Amino acid sequence: MSTLFLRTLRDDPADAEVPSHRLLVRGGYVRRVAPGIYSWLPLGLLVLRNVERVVREEMAAIGSQEVLFPALIPREIFEASGRWADYGDSLFRLTDRKASDYLLGPTHEELFTLLVKGEYSSYKDYPLSLYQIQTKFRDEARPRAGVLRGREFIMKDSYSFDLSDEGLQTSYQAHRDAYERIFSRLGFDYRIVFAVSGAMGGSASEEFLAPTPSGEDTFVQCSSCDYAANTEAVEIATPAAQDPSGVPPSVVLDTPDTPTIATLVESLNRYDWASAGVSEPPTFTAADTLKNVVLRTRAPGADDWELLVVGVPGDREVDMKRLAGQLEPVQVEQAGPDDLAREPGLVKGYIGPQLLSELKVRYLVDPLVVEGSAWVTGANEEDKHAAFVVRGRDFTPDGEIGAVEIADGDRCVRCGSALRIARGIELGHVFALGRKYAETFGLTALGPDGKPVSITMGSYGVGITRAVAALAEQTHDSSGLCWPREAAPADVQLVPTGKDVATLAEAERLATELVAGGVRVLLDDRKASPGVKFADAELLGVPTILIVGRGLAEGLVELRDRKSGERRDVPLAEAVSEVRAAINGR
Ligand code: ATP
Ligand code: MG
Repeated sequence: MSTLFLRTLRDDPADAEVPSHRLLVRGGYVRRVAPGIYSWLPLGLLVLRNVERVVREEMAAIGSQEVLFPALIPREIFEASGRWADYGDSLFRLTDRKASDYLLGPTHEELFTLLVKGEYSSYKDYPLSLYQIQTKFRDEARPRAGVLRGREFIMKDSYSFDLSDEGLQTSYQAHRDAYERIFSRLGFDYRIVFAVSGAMGGSASEEFLAPTPSGEDTFVQCSSCDYAANTEAVEIATPAAQDPSGVPPSVVLDTPDTPTIATLVESLNRYDWASAGVSEPPTFTAADTLKNVVLRTRAPGADDWELLVVGVPGDREVDMKRLAGQLEPVQVEQAGPDDLAREPGLVKGYIGPQLLSELKVRYLVDPLVVEGSAWVTGANEEDKHAAFVVRGRDFTPDGEIGAVEIADGDRCVRCGSALRIARGIELGHVFALGRKYAETFGLTALGPDGKPVSITMGSYGVGITRAVAALAEQTHDSSGLCWPREAAPADVQLVPTGKDVATLAEAERLATELVAGGVRVLLDDRKASPGVKFADAELLGVPTILIVGRGLAEGLVELRDRKSGERRDVPLAEAVSEVRAAINGR
């Protein structure tokens, strides 16, 4: 370590929000160059290479072959897939000296498809699986938490090419299994959750998430079965349809000064119901009100926005991300005052579904608004609400869409038990792309009967740089990093603590012997105090620490386990075999 290019820091970097960012900077693993752009220093690069090694081994094990594409891609290729436009501001675009447009690849579906098209032509060539480990560029709106969400980052992306849907299923499963092995070997605690397709369109889609409080992704898991989904893809059990035969006819109520659902509920419970001809009114809560949120949508390629009203129970919020995930590739956002002004029939604050079909405004309800259920909702007039408005009797929505923000305690769609909400980091993604790219680029194979067969693809990604940070996030403790064995920059950190030459000499001898036996050693031969060396050993997080110090006089060295904190003295003569045993997990 006296010559290692490493400076550890005592203080946290000012911009660090999460532990992994703090510790990777303090431990000298990475250094920031610009927002979302980092350099990897020697120790960091060792961890990064370990992640890559495990990924390469598991990709090879499923017969995937490594290739390497350029990051710099001509515009035409992304124009052909529509992603030059679809990717929006997240794409880094640049111009060459001849004024031709280029981009820095955010993923490489197009190039993989074109490459295979150029080389293969017969059904006998398939199936095929290719991957690369390469730098990607995305101008993320919020680069965050160090290398966890970078604007330049390393990804393993692979693609499978099959002749049939069954073939794709097999390839998808092989990748899913490989990912399980990758994340287990690296020492992750992970969950596989259902996901919706992103900008790419397709069917089967699952994410590998590392649960951690600082994670950006919210996901839901069942408290009793193994159902798990991200909140964009989650489905919840819906209550049974209700019988509305006992519900009174709907009535319009005067409800001035009820700008919020709380004030509306209060006014309902004080209402002079007799005057409205209702003899035994129920007690109302926010859950009895139907909230109608005005949004706008725009189909891909369309110029104009269209209004969309979504109805949810008044005690629930609308989850825009969940909606967006289901409407994709149609865009959706909150409607503004201008959109509302174009439809005078919509009375802000008093919108009810009774009128929407007449106004020809598309209306979707969350499945919690079941057939036959009765609601208090807007009466489409200033200062008026309507009660006992029944779905199927007083209004009929154009359809259903899961719109409510999922809450702890919502019911599992599979088994009905309570769902729990947790946060996680997306480590990887397996995704059955289907024929979209093959059709766009004309990737076909000549079948046995001489007719062309369109190829079906899968796309699979692992965030390599993100994995380093996610692992740090999941495994660190209050003293520093705490690497699982496969990812660790070294197997053992050798810490001589005496000032005398003999101690250092003995440590060097041990290091030489360990290295000769294939052990990866980090030797702290710096002229620093034992306190500094111990603190750095804790910070750096090498799994085994071997201290050569005071005990040497009695022929003893101290073996420490970084994770458990366990320490014990071992005879010098057994030090090497004890380290070996620790490495092999004995
Ligand atoms: P996210 O939802 O986190 O933005 P994504 O769904 O856009 O990710 P994919 O296109 O599925 O990501 O990319 C595959 C993998 O690449 C992800 O699972 C993640 O591990 C990694 N990754 C994506 N974006 C970033 C980033 N900005 N920085 C680091 N790693 C990333
Ligand atoms: Mg993804």
